[in-house]
Amino acid sequence: MNDELKYTTLATTFLRQLQESGEEFVFTSEASRVWAAAVRPAKTPPAEQGADSYPHPAPAANGAAAAPTRQSNSMADPEKSLKDLCRKISACTMCRLWKNRTNSVCGAGDPEADLMFVGEGPGAEEDRQGLPFVGASGQLLTKIIASIGFTREEVFIANLVKCRPPNNRDPLLEEIETCVPYLLAQIEKIKPKVLVTLGRFSACFFHGRETSLKHLRGLVSEFRGTKVVSTYHPAALLRNQFFKRETWNDMLLARRLYDELGGKPSSGRVFRSTNR
Ligand code: URA
Repeated sequence: MNDELKYTTLATTFLRQLQESGEEFVFTSEASRVWAAAVRPAKTPPAEQGADSYPHPAPAANGAAAAPTRQSNSMADPEKSLKDLCRKISACTMCRLWKNRTNSVCGAGDPEADLMFVGEGPGAEEDRQGLPFVGASGQLLTKIIASIGFTREEVFIANLVKCRPPNNRDPLLEEIETCVPYLLAQIEKIKPKVLVTLGRFSACFFHGRETSLKHLRGLVSEFRGTKVVSTYHPAALLRNQFFKRETWNDMLLARRLYDELGGKPSSGRVFRSTNR
């Protein structure tokens, strides 16, 4: 048996054993490259043509962004499947961020939500409680979500990285790359109809381009069957009240897409105010 065949056979046996022991995901840097290659902007505004592309790794071999397929057991019980994933996240040591964490922050909300929000990474309060967006910016996010008729329990909230970057610094590209397969596995299970990115990092990741947020707001991209729209991070909104009206417009776009795509009814209505 030549070496190539020997190692392929060993690898196949190893993967089969993992599968039989109930393992759903095997994260390798190559896997994260393939995952990341699924990100494709649906349309490019003329002003943005020629902009640098976000440093995502190379596309998948066939270049196609395949439609999501649910794992068979997640189809049976998405809640259990998400909980299993959270257990893996809480034991993860794949990047340096685990060293300073009190808790990993897996995500929270309805495991079958049609609307999902994705921020950057946990802050101090989130690290303390193990829940996403529970600090000052989280309180504002709750109001933003309510403005289009939802409670936090009716949507799913997660982050690009699951452990707090020290001193609330931005997550590094390598940390995002290492952690993002978890988020992508969550999206595969939840299969939201609409995903709203919060802040520049999340927007660049999901639209697949590195540029300023102002060029990504208003853009509707498609990520494996989920529509992606972007808005400001609530922390930016706390610093600059002028972003309020634009955030409102972004949220109306998200709600319009949600309704057009037949999202589940929400418990509240879109909050109408003449005061915006
Ligand atoms: N900022 C984020 O991006 N995520 C959180 O969970 C909290 C603050």
